[in-house]
Amino acid sequence: MRAASWELVAVNHPLQCRCGTLKGYVSHSGNVNRCVCYCRDCQAFAHFLGRPAEILDAQGGTDVIQTRPANVTFTQGRDVLACMRLAEKGLLRWYTTCCNTPVGNTLADFRVSFVGLVHNCLEGGGGSLDDSFGPIRAHVNTKSTQGKVQSSPVAMVLVILRFIALAGGARINGSYKRTPFFSVDTGAPVATPKVLSLSEREALSARISSTE
Ligand SMILES: [Zn+2]
Ligand SMILES: [Zn+2]
Repeated sequence: MRAASWELVAVNHPLQCRCGTLKGYVSHSGNVNRCVCYCRDCQAFAHFLGRPAEILDAQGGTDVIQTRPANVTFTQGRDVLACMRLAEKGLLRWYTTCCNTPVGNTLADFRVSFVGLVHNCLEGGGGSLDDSFGPIRAHVNTKSTQGKVQSSPVAMVLVILRFIALAGGARINGSYKRTPFFSVDTGAPVATPKVLSLSEREALSARISSTE
């Protein structure tokens, strides 16, 4: 019963930006949570990068692969990695400066071992997302969808449990200390976050509304 199992074949799925400057891979590919997020913040990030058509699906959703940062390895191009926050306290949203490819979202505290990788950085190096990571498990934050999307409360609970297992397990086994997004000595992100001003945020929000 493949659909009911979280554990798929573990492969090193290639990760790269559109232009190929940033390269790496995601290990333990079977041990992830895959969902589509429809929240306005994810949509705003897609607009910030100027690539909403490539990042968002027809309903405004972003296909996200949630895993532990310890499973993400960059092999080249780390210097093009940048991050932004939609607001002072928002998630750190990582992308590349070479070609504005979204990479993923982390919390500001690296001890919460979690990264939501945005599908675009996993599509350029070959290998199908379905084969490596399994099917989409849930559709979340569906209140902001542009059109009808089915949200199942059971799927949502599974996603939350899965998140706790990912982040909690990493806390216990110490793997949260392996992250390519932070210096674990100082706790600082490897790139200084660009925090959007209120007017920048409002401009992005207007672009989302104009596509609704
Ligand atoms: Zn690039
Ligand atoms: Zn979101």
